[in-house]
Amino acid sequence: MSTTTLNPELKSQLKDIVGNAFVDDPVQMAAYVCDALGHYEAIASMILKPKNTNEVSKIVRLCSENNISFVPQGGNTGLVAGAIPGPEKAELIISLERMDAIHEIDSINSTMTVDAGCILENIQNSADAIDRLFPLSLAAEGSCQIGGNLATNAGGTAVLKYGNARDLVLGLEVVLPNGEVWDGLRALRKDNAGYDLKQLFLGSEGTLGVITRAVLKLFPKPRSVCTALVAFPDIEATTLLLNLLREKTGDMLNAFEYMDKHCFDLLDEHSDLSNPFSQSFSHYALIELSSSHDSDLNAVLEGVLVEAFDSSIVLDALIGASLTQKQYFWKMRETIPTAYKKLGFGVIFDISVPVSSVPLFIHQANEFMKNNAPTARTLTFGHIGDGNIHYSAMQPKEGDVAAFRSLKKDLTVGINNLAINLNGSFTAEHGVGFAKVDELLRYRSETEVRLMKQIKSTLDPQNICNPGKVVSW
Ligand SMILES: Cc1cc2nc3c(=O)[nH]c(=O)nc-3n(C[C@H](O)[C@H](O)[C@H](O)COP(=O)(O)OP(=O)(O)OC[C@H]3O[C@@H](n4cnc5c(N)ncnc54)[C@H](O)[C@@H]3O)c2cc1C
Repeated sequence: MSTTTLNPELKSQLKDIVGNAFVDDPVQMAAYVCDALGHYEAIASMILKPKNTNEVSKIVRLCSENNISFVPQGGNTGLVAGAIPGPEKAELIISLERMDAIHEIDSINSTMTVDAGCILENIQNSADAIDRLFPLSLAAEGSCQIGGNLATNAGGTAVLKYGNARDLVLGLEVVLPNGEVWDGLRALRKDNAGYDLKQLFLGSEGTLGVITRAVLKLFPKPRSVCTALVAFPDIEATTLLLNLLREKTGDMLNAFEYMDKHCFDLLDEHSDLSNPFSQSFSHYALIELSSSHDSDLNAVLEGVLVEAFDSSIVLDALIGASLTQKQYFWKMRETIPTAYKKLGFGVIFDISVPVSSVPLFIHQANEFMKNNAPTARTLTFGHIGDGNIHYSAMQPKEGDVAAFRSLKKDLTVGINNLAINLNGSFTAEHGVGFAKVDELLRYRSETEVRLMKQIKSTLDPQNICNPGKVVSW
């Protein structure tokens, strides 16, 4: 049985490893022990901030020798309470924030070797500086770290063209739960030597080891980008336009982000962003085409939109005329996940279904909410091009908030069941963390859960590496 109690001698040995880079004052620890949604608050025994792989390895080895459990933490922007200690434990947090070096950029190999604590936005900017693209992009990119992105197999807004985080990695270095360093930092595009071990750690949410470095894939930088905001008569029309764009623009389609009317109302109420159309519609999408050639993408998109307009798939469209206008459209989309926090308590979903089932899921979810929480404010937005919908039920504007909170479990099960019945997933990109452990057990087969536990117990037989997250025993 692992413990979280640090005796004074062990505490001082751990502090010695990182020099002065630790926090053990409860007030200063507060920022590290609250999850990004503000739903969970934990306590930690201390926060250690190693500067390199060797220090991480020494900390973890000492934890293993003394049966002490620990939690790897990146930017702490995760939405499933995976990066903070469990509610009954006061675990040690290993924060990667000081491991922020970019070690090597190989423009011929189109790769970049980075420390796990690099902020995503810094990686994007460093790629841009050598005329390359690192395509992972999400609203938290100014504070999330690449180690956290890889540990959660983050998705974001460019999955349609470039895939999830796991598709953007060639090599990995990981400190295993016994303190041993696995050096898989290979920069190879072809390498079939046995099992692809890095895939085990990608998406494992810090439960199988601490990611310390990665070799990332870079891509040609887009020379032309066209961004548009489009209004639709109904939800079905969004998938029809998606299909048409795929047919007519091939791999130019970079993003297809859905927002319903309630999201625009939210922005009106709680941000300085307002609807750029002259009237209000019920359904919108932000669409982006990009190409690594100099092409007139505005003309390409206009052609598709005219065809869609003639078939009544599209009601109105604004093509970004300047960089400022394109950025404004993106700001609207990216402000939604922070603005909805201003509505108070919410039950937030991260479901995915096959793209063809998106309209049916949204109709069923709205019907379910009408019957089970009629006063809740729903918001529907997300990466609809990948079938990933962030359906959210926020507390009523007026009325009994406590009664709404008490519905959390029923709403969670009800909405997730709808997704599962459409062959979907209860967690498309945020992962399981602590918040969705019950759902994993509910929706994944005994065989699948048993295999996950066997992998966990093989790599972490003491159950000290982020215990209580993803799978427990
Ligand atoms: C406004 C907002 C928008 C978001 N949009 C998206 C989105 O579009 N797509 C998406 O996928 N997610 C999104 N997220 C969720 C979140 O940003 C991602 O999950 C992100 O990848 C987490 O990175 P992080 O560095 O903050 O990790 P953390 O929150 O610190 O950690 C997340 C998990 O990874 C583990 N971990 C962290 N670093 C390491 C490491 N070095 N080694 C091993 N394990 C580690 C932690 O233990 C934890 O289980 C959003 C969050 C916010 C607040």
